[in-house]
Amino acid sequence: MRRKIVAGNWKMNTLPAEGLELARAIVAKRRETGPSVELIVCPPFTHLSEVVKATRGEGVAVGAQNCAAEEKGAYTGEVSAAMLAALGVEYVILGHSERREYYGETSDTLNRKLAMAYANRLVPIYCVGEKLEERESGRHFDVVGAQLREVVYNLSPEQFSSLIVAYEPVWAIGTGKTATSEQAQEMHAYIRRTLAEKFGAAAEHTPILYGGSCKPSNAQELFAKPDVDGGLIGGAALEADSFIGIGKSF
Ligand code: PEP
Repeated sequence: MRRKIVAGNWKMNTLPAEGLELARAIVAKRRETGPSVELIVCPPFTHLSEVVKATRGEGVAVGAQNCAAEEKGAYTGEVSAAMLAALGVEYVILGHSERREYYGETSDTLNRKLAMAYANRLVPIYCVGEKLEERESGRHFDVVGAQLREVVYNLSPEQFSSLIVAYEPVWAIGTGKTATSEQAQEMHAYIRRTLAEKFGAAAEHTPILYGGSCKPSNAQELFAKPDVDGGLIGGAALEADSFIGIGKSF
């Protein structure tokens, strides 16, 4: 049995007080999903400290949406993995398509960020996914395969054993267009095979989350697929009811 995980990527949304209210509302409804489903919330940096306090001991883990590629020093505006870990943050989203697209993150950057995350005992949620034109030209497996080989293949077996992967087709993020459950399963199975080529049977245990306009109305069909182990949720993670509703969809 693999872990079942629903992670909420709040992106640059909510003011600190609103984020705290959202975290508290999720905690209040947390029981509805049952204990077998793991919930992770990933608020903006400015909210992390308060959200960690509000969720401690409540069965809701906290992740950040990014971390620096360097350890410390003269990197104005950056937040290090050590700073996040010191707050009680446990996870970090890395390689999100918005970071790749708007902030020029490459496999090289991401190799360094993952190394920083592991050095500070943060678990990376590593995002992969193809753009619309890459899918339409039939290159989606090649693109996702490269995103795995150029980064995940550099991990040690021990590091790999805790990794979470999120498949997020860029054309489905925030667009209301969800991949069909068949498209998701096909790619998730490909991801698992690609991971198994390097890490063998350990890939059977890797949680692979689907992300891209996932909501309570489509989560059940997606999560019913054998290689879909949960979701990385954007828009629908901003309301406790819909986030918990997705958590109830296994
Ligand atoms: C995301 O960006 O991680 C995401 C899945 O967004 P949405 O659910 O809004 O498509």
